[in-house]
Amino acid sequence: MISRRQFLQFCTAAAAELGLNPGRLLQLQAAVEAPDAPTVIWLHGSGCQGDSISMLNRISSDEAPHDVADFLINSLNLEFHSVLSAAAGTTLVEHAHHILDTQPFFLIVEGGIPLAFHAEACTVWAHDGQEVTFADAVATFARKARAVVAVGTCATHGGISAAPPNPTGVVGLQTFLQKRRIQPPSVINISGCPAHPDWIISTLCQLFLGEQIECDDYGRPYDIFRFNIHRECPRRRGKPTFVGFADSFGQDRYCLQRIGCRGPRTRGDCANRLWNDGSSWCVDSNGMCFGCPDPDFPAGDFYPDPDA
Ligand code: SF4
Ligand code: SF4
Repeated sequence: MISRRQFLQFCTAAAAELGLNPGRLLQLQAAVEAPDAPTVIWLHGSGCQGDSISMLNRISSDEAPHDVADFLINSLNLEFHSVLSAAAGTTLVEHAHHILDTQPFFLIVEGGIPLAFHAEACTVWAHDGQEVTFADAVATFARKARAVVAVGTCATHGGISAAPPNPTGVVGLQTFLQKRRIQPPSVINISGCPAHPDWIISTLCQLFLGEQIECDDYGRPYDIFRFNIHRECPRRRGKPTFVGFADSFGQDRYCLQRIGCRGPRTRGDCANRLWNDGSSWCVDSNGMCFGCPDPDFPAGDFYPDPDA
């Protein structure tokens, strides 16, 4: 077990990014080390699992955690995850149902929920001799969860999985819960394609600490999604760093608005937080913002004809 001193040492790096002061860090450490530490069930539906991969970016390859995010992930009682759990198949499914019947848990939903064909386009496991659709699995676990967190835009609003013509009838979590009249105590949407690992981890921290999470109109944590990408972008006209508008790709430091950047309509803290351990973000890499957390993402062509 990691000592409090060690914990405070390695958590310093990511604490500020996650909005954790020393007092909350100690509370978090106590929460995840308690005998009744928060338990997480993570279900996957229609999606690419990019949000799991995004979260794994926060785990160091060394034995010792580097920071609070690393510690939290390594300390999570992640009792069901179809890829990360050591067990698999019937054993793992039975374990998930044991958790369902015996202890409180937080439910994470990754991927959209297909409803066409009696929801049978996405079948996740067999239980009691019956095949179980992702829709029924989410419904079963959401009814008992302390809180439900949708990670990634497929889970929050359908995302790429629900892009036209959407043959499997994919919907996002809140639409699904409304259809089934399921009302968990709390539903949080962390959109993004994928969701940034800090967005997932800071939300889990708040849930584990029993804090209220203020959300925007789309059910997303306000602290993360209050920023407009365009307003924060260093390439925006009016900022001292503005050098002009790009008319094709590959023009370093030029604003990409006229070749289709969706920064002006998109909310998120990418320009401030950066990605990949603070190394870069989409615009900084000369790729434009595609509006990945938007409720209507992917919303049309990624590369609209600038002359059209
Ligand atoms: S590159 Fe995109 S986000 Fe940045 S200023 Fe231009 S339009 Fe706005
Ligand atoms: S800059 Fe835009 S497309 Fe890139 S991760 Fe942020 S919100 Fe998504």
